[in-house]
Amino acid sequence: MSDEHPRAVTPTRAPEDAAAEQSLRPASFEGFVGQPRVVRNLQTWIKAAQTGGRSLDHVLFTGPPGLGKTTLATLVSGELGAELTMTSGPVIERVHDLAGMLTKLKRGDVLFIDEIHRLRTHIEEYLYSAMEDFRIDVAIDEGAYARSVSLSLERFTLIGATTRAGLLSKPFRDRFGIQERLRAYEERELAQIVRRSARVLGCELDDDAALLIAARARGTPRVANRFLARLRDVALAEGAPSVSREVAARGLEMLGVDAHGLDDMDRRILEVLAQSPGTPVGLKTLAVATSEEDSTIEDVYEPYLIVRGYVRKTARGRVLGPRGYELLGIDPPAESGASPTKQGSLFA
Ligand code: ADP
Repeated sequence: MSDEHPRAVTPTRAPEDAAAEQSLRPASFEGFVGQPRVVRNLQTWIKAAQTGGRSLDHVLFTGPPGLGKTTLATLVSGELGAELTMTSGPVIERVHDLAGMLTKLKRGDVLFIDEIHRLRTHIEEYLYSAMEDFRIDVAIDEGAYARSVSLSLERFTLIGATTRAGLLSKPFRDRFGIQERLRAYEERELAQIVRRSARVLGCELDDDAALLIAARARGTPRVANRFLARLRDVALAEGAPSVSREVAARGLEMLGVDAHGLDDMDRRILEVLAQSPGTPVGLKTLAVATSEEDSTIEDVYEPYLIVRGYVRKTARGRVLGPRGYELLGIDPPAESGASPTKQGSLFA
């Protein structure tokens, strides 16, 4: 496999670190580590579409941030030999903007909408006929002369990415023929990802340092790559020949990441929940108490804390989970049903 960048895209999403992220994106499915079922499925649907001379059905990727949804969209489009237009839910403000994008698509092209759950309702509804019948209504003239004409579109593939499939209306979700959920990565997969990223960045990374990064990266390639970039800087600043385990351990400490892979915000969340053990805390309260956006808590922090048993979600709010009590050295209230368990260290 080659490490060149995927083919050019039309970027409308421009985070600060987009260039760095782009440079680390694998250019082919061979370079994409993990998610074997998802990759196998996609390759099958792509092959079937190509064999049948059809455009690929619309695709919805679901999963927490940084797990590879955008990367997969670029890989699917590359495999199809299609041109990829990238945008995101919140930036499409007017039907007019969307219509402009849709009418530019050529047969088989891919339109990628990140954070698709944040599309405005009228934009989402406007997409229905585009997705299903490849037609849209376009307004012409204004005021008393206003009328609309129905335009036919080339058969394109919409790829949506969302951290919250539950926020998509059912009619919208149902229009995606292919739906894939990405899961957190295993440590050995993350170690493989950072080893490859180190090669792309031209940085020496010792094997046991790669394992340490992998163990603390919350199952997320983006987090692992971010750690690697900072640890490379630590090595450079210290004149160390490589990112060794020792450099990595010190660098992670500088980043506030503890031996369990928890950072300052994770610990703040746990401390807030520990103030009233057993009493559920609502998301909004948690957001105010930690000065963090509720959507960031829900999308970025909580999934890991819940999966690892630090936090438990109840119908009335969040409470500490067994590992949360254990970590903070507090006894769970008897009625909570949570008992500290000795699971050994998942993070050793
Ligand atoms: P998402 O769109 O889900 O937020 P991205 O696709 O932007 O995530 O991935 C974030 C970063 O992690 C990118 O630099 C990407 O190259 C890397 N990455 C994600 N998944 C993988 C993977 N399976 N193999 C290699 N690198 C990955």
